[in-house]
Parts: sequence; C-alpha cells; structure tokens
Amino acid sequence: MPRAALDRMIGLAGGTIRRQLTLAFAVATGLVMFGFGYGVIQHQSKFLMEQSAHSAEDLAHMLAVGSTAWLVANDVTGLQVELASIARNPNLNYVLVLGRDGKVLAASDVGTIGLVADDPVSRRLLSGAVPRARILVDDERLVDVAEPIFAGTRHLGWVRIGWGRGQVRDNLAEITRRGYILGGFAIGFAVLLALAIAGGLTRGLRQLIYVANAVHKGERNVRAGLGRSDEIGQLAESINGMLDALAASERERMATEEEIRSLAFYDPLTHLPNRRMLIERLRHAMISSGRTERAGALLFIDLDNFKTLNDTLGHDMGDLLLQQVASRLVRCIREGDTVARLGGDEFVVMLEGLAHETGDAAAQAEAIGRKVLGSLNAPYELAGRRHQSTSSIGITLFDRDLHTIDELLKRADLAMYNAKTAGRNTLRFFDPHMQTVVTARAALEGDLREGLQLGQFVLYYQSQRDVDSRITGAEVLLRWLHPERGLVGPNEFIPLTEETGLIIPIGQWVLDSACRQLAAWGRAPHTAHLTIAVNISVRQFRQAEFVGQVLQALAESGADARRLKLELTESLLMDDVEEIIGKMTSLKRHGVLFSLDDFGTGYSSLSYLKRLPLDQLKIDQSFVRDVTIDANDAAIASTIVALAHHMGLDVIAEGVETTAQADFLVSIGCCAFQGFLFGQPVPLAQFEQLLVTLEAPA
Ligand code: C2E
Ligand code: MG
Ligand code: MG
Repeated sequence: MPRAALDRMIGLAGGTIRRQLTLAFAVATGLVMFGFGYGVIQHQSKFLMEQSAHSAEDLAHMLAVGSTAWLVANDVTGLQVELASIARNPNLNYVLVLGRDGKVLAASDVGTIGLVADDPVSRRLLSGAVPRARILVDDERLVDVAEPIFAGTRHLGWVRIGWGRGQVRDNLAEITRRGYILGGFAIGFAVLLALAIAGGLTRGLRQLIYVANAVHKGERNVRAGLGRSDEIGQLAESINGMLDALAASERERMATEEEIRSLAFYDPLTHLPNRRMLIERLRHAMISSGRTERAGALLFIDLDNFKTLNDTLGHDMGDLLLQQVASRLVRCIREGDTVARLGGDEFVVMLEGLAHETGDAAAQAEAIGRKVLGSLNAPYELAGRRHQSTSSIGITLFDRDLHTIDELLKRADLAMYNAKTAGRNTLRFFDPHMQTVVTARAALEGDLREGLQLGQFVLYYQSQRDVDSRITGAEVLLRWLHPERGLVGPNEFIPLTEETGLIIPIGQWVLDSACRQLAAWGRAPHTAHLTIAVNISVRQFRQAEFVGQVLQALAESGADARRLKLELTESLLMDDVEEIIGKMTSLKRHGVLFSLDDFGTGYSSLSYLKRLPLDQLKIDQSFVRDVTIDANDAAIASTIVALAHHMGLDVIAEGVETTAQADFLVSIGCCAFQGFLFGQPVPLAQFEQLLVTLEAPA
C-alpha cells in the first residue's frame, strides 16, 4: 500500500468516533466477505473442474464400450452417425475414434479429422505400452480424455473426447459477480449499522461535552439528562452527581463570604452600612464630587437622651428604638444616598449630588436635616409602649478639595455637639458662614410667609409703549415692603419662593391684583384699552389647576381676558411641551395673551417655539443694553425681530434706556418698548398719574 494511502487511512481512523466505527465496520466486513468469497469460489472451481473431468471420463468410457461393435463390424459410417448424435452435447468440443495406429476412424465433425490427425496429443497414446484410460489435457478451457476400445482382450483403438470448460468458467464468473454484489451490500449494511451505533453513542457524548463546556463557562445549573442506562448514561449520572456536589459547596462558600462581608460592612442590629462601609462610600463620593462638581454633605445624627432610655427601660428597648430610627432615616433619603450607623446611637447620613453653589448645597442639606429631625421626632411604639425621642444633627459639606475623611467626620461630629449645646432637637452646620447663610434663608422664608399674611407685597407698574411713545399697557412687577428690610426687589426673594413653593400663593395674589386693576381700568374709557402683563413662574404654570386659577381670577374681577398678558420664560420648555401647549390653548380660547419673556437667553428650541400659541416675543434687556455698540447684540436683536415677524408674532424690547437704543430698535422693525427711557416701575398711583400727564393736551 502506498505511503500516502496509509497515512490517509490513519488520518481517517483518528477522526470522530463515527468515522472510526464506520471505517472499522467497513474494513472488517470487507475482509470477511473477501475471505469467504475467495474460499467459496476456490472450492466451487475445484468441484466443477473435477465434475467436468468425471463427465468426460464417463462419456469416453461409455463411447468406448459402444464403439466396439461398430469397429468389430468395421462399420465406420455407423460409428460416424453415432458420434454426430453424441456431439450435440454442448459441452463437447470434439469426439474422435482412433484406430490402434492413431488414425482417425470417425469424428464428431469432419473438420476435426484434419485437425487431430497428427497432433502430438494423439501421438502420446501410441507410445504407451499398455492401453488404458488417460487424461491428455486438463486445463481451464478443456479436459481431453482417451479411453481404449477393447473387444475382449483385443485392443481396437481409442475414443478421445474434448470436454469444453466454458460452462464451468461461466458458472464461476456468475458466482464471483454475485459475491461482489453480496459483499457490496454487506459493506453498505455494515456502514449503516456503524453509523447508527455511532450516532447513538455520540449523541450522549455530545451532550456530556455540552455540559462540560457550559460548566467551564461558569454556568452552574446545567445537568445532563440522557435517560439511558448504558455506560454513557452511568457517566452522565456520575457527572451530574459531581456537579451537584460542586454547586452545594459553592453555595456554602458564597453564604460564608456573604456572612463575612455582612459582618465586615454592615451593622448587625439595623442592617445599615457600618463605619467601614461609610468610609468606603465617602471616599467614592468625594472622588465623584470632584468629577461632577456637585457638593455632598455629611449629617451626623445623635439621639437625644438615648442613654436614659437604655438605663431605664433596658437594652432591648434601646435596640428596638435604634431599629426604628434606622428605617425612618432610610425613608428620609433619596436612592443613592447613604445611611450608616457608626455605633451606639450615632448615625450618619451621606448626601451626594447636591448643588454646585455652597449656599444652595447648604440649603438642600438643611432641608433634608429638617426632614430627618421631623421624622425622628414622631412618636415611637416600642413593644406596646409609646416613646418620644428627639435628635441633634451636625452638618458639614464636602467637595473635591476638602480634607481627609477623618477630618470630615470630626467636623460633622463637632457640629452635632454644637446642636446639642444649642438645646438639642436642632441642627447646626460646622461652617459658621454656612450657618449664617442657612439661618438667613430660614429667616427670609419666615418673613416672606409673614409678609404674605400681613399684605406687605405691592405691585409696581412699568409702562409699555408703542412707536409713538403712547402707553399700551403695563407690566406688573412685584415689590416687598418689609418694615426692616425696606423695599425688596423680586430678584432677592423670588428664587427662594420658587424653591419653597411660596411662589404659588404669592403668584396667585399677583394675578388676582392684576385682574382687579384690569377690571377697574376697563370701566374707565380712557384706560379701557390698556393691557397688563403678569410674570408667571414655571412652578406656578406647572400646577394642574393653573388654567382654572387664571379663569377664576378673570371671572371674579370681571376683567377682560383679552387685556391680560401672561409672561412665560423659556425655561418652561424643559417640561412636557404637549402639556404646556394644552394649557396655553385652553387660556387662549378665552382671549388670554402670551408673551415669551427674556427671549434669547434660555433654551429655545425653534421647533417647539413654532408650536406654542404665543402672541409676543420679548427681547431680553441683555441684548438691548449694548445694541448700539455691540454688533453681535445688534444682530441678535434684528434676528429676533425678523423671527417674530416671520412667525406672525408681536415683538417688544425691554430695558430700553436710551433714545439711541429706541431708534435702532425702530430701524430694525421693533415697534414696542419697555424701559427706563419711558418710565421706571412705579406704584399704581404714580402710574395713573403718568397716564393723566401723557393724555393731557400739550
Ligand atoms: P422681567 O420680567 O424681565 O422684568 C423686567 C425687569 O427689568 C424688572 O426688574 C424691571 O424693573 C427691569 N427693568 C425695566 N426697564 C429697565 C431698564 O430700562 N433698565 C434696567 N436695567 N432694568 C429695567 P424687577 O422688577 O427687579 O424684576 C426682576 C424679575 O423678577 C422680572 O424680570 C421677573 O422675572 C421677576 N418678577 C417680577 N415680578 C414678578 C412676579 O410678580 N411674579 C414672578 N413670577 N416673577 C416676577
Ligand atoms: Mg417680565
Ligand atoms: Mg424680562
């Protein structure tokens, strides 16, 4: 076998089980079939050869006996006739009767006479001393036998028969052909059988391989489900058992790890993070505060008189209280903030993502601190017993460049002591400046509430003019007349009222007052045409009942809705625009006008702007201020005017202080103005005086 073919066989045998089995079955069956076929053919060939030799001998013997009488009578013709009839046997190639001298006396056909008359085979007959039966030729094609003819003891001649073996050869060829076919079928069947067995074997093995791979990739719940009882089934069962044992030990390990982790990082009584975990989170919070530029805060909380409770009612009661405090604290904070228990009755709340400005961040921390104080002040139910407790809170802020963690905790702790000394049930900031800011805000908020009750708010009116300086209406601007603070402008208190929600009642008051004034003007012919613009804060507009409030103010005062103009700001567009459009449309249906205040300073998406049912754009005063000296501002103002005209809106410029500004604005097509050039915001009486003065004929 050539080397390459051998290699190929080895290669084939080394492949999958299916291939190995198929090859083995095919080779084995091929060898067996070959051996068997070879044996059968050999045996059959020998048998047929012998059989044909016997047939030839028997026929020769019979003919020798039958020829005696013809030869004795010397009737060669009769003999010839007899031979011709015998020669019809298809196996017979020839039959000859020879005389003692080897001369042909009769032959199966005449052509043979010449052929064998002097052939070397016949000559061999004459050379024998004693005449007896002989086989002259015995090969694959022919058996040639000679039988002496005797009359008594007298030797008369020979019968020679050529028995052809063509039929024997045909038989053997047929047997061989059938052997091949049978062998082919046997090999095919063996291959099919091998494939079937290999399929069954490898299906099970493949599943085991799949399971092993899945386990290798980290899947722990996969198992082999073969449902067979052979060795592969037993192997699968063993593997499953091994995986179960592994999974159980892994679960045990994880549980132990979890327990260790929990002991290391959590407080077992309240399940809150402990000091170690807090420090870890604080470290992260400080890093992320540096990245986001947002401040964070630590609130150090200590229960007032906890020791007394412990001493009088026992530690179990103390533990119950601590658990309830823990769950109340968790409810006070947002997701992402941390409540930790440092030990004893000390808790820390860590806030993240507060405002960038220290003052605002302090206010946010304070708000949560107050919420915590309020929540912890509510009565507790300790094993059926009612208990009241208060707490003291120290607050410190942190950002990227502040101190070590230890220092931070110390600061919060110190602030907490200050709260205790200040009489408990309160909070204190570590930073005295922050404390001042927060206290001032708290005072301002209190004053604002009081101011609202005591009617300290007044409205100032600033005229809005047309291109001929005629008054078309006024914007009402809020002022706070505080007995000690004096006249306070809205920039100083509106932000806080928005934060605290005070803007809602204050804004309502502004709206009611403006509508009442509008109604009063409506009753006098010379003021009936005037409009009033009212500033509406986002928080006010956002209320679900805003539309109803406006309509009620109009109805109660009897003011003409078509003279009321609501000033909205672009920051409103951060909200759900569909809802804004809905509210505006409802009011518009009653005739209310809308102006977009401070236009150009905020987030104005033109696509939204297009959809708002506006009447007017108000160019912000920051563009008007330098409109005559700054080419950029001039370009912005021109663009706003063009945009307004394009959208079919009115446009008004605010903060117009000089005639140069007014002239420029007129030149770009702006025909409405508001600003100190035409009049400062003034109290109502003064504004009405102005109306009279302007109307008086010069
Ligand atoms: P705003 O609505 O843009 O009002 C225009 C501000 O520009 C007013 O300040 C007005 O006094 C000032 N101003 C008018 N003409 C000129 C001028 O020629 N030069 C300069 N430098 N300033 C001029 P004010 O009254 O201090 O109001 C400030 C902001 O407070 C208002 O801005 C408005 O956003 C808010 N605000 C005022 N009243 C109310 C109110 O009743 N409700 C709400 N939500 N906000 C109000
Ligand atoms: Mg305004
Ligand atoms: Mg404005």
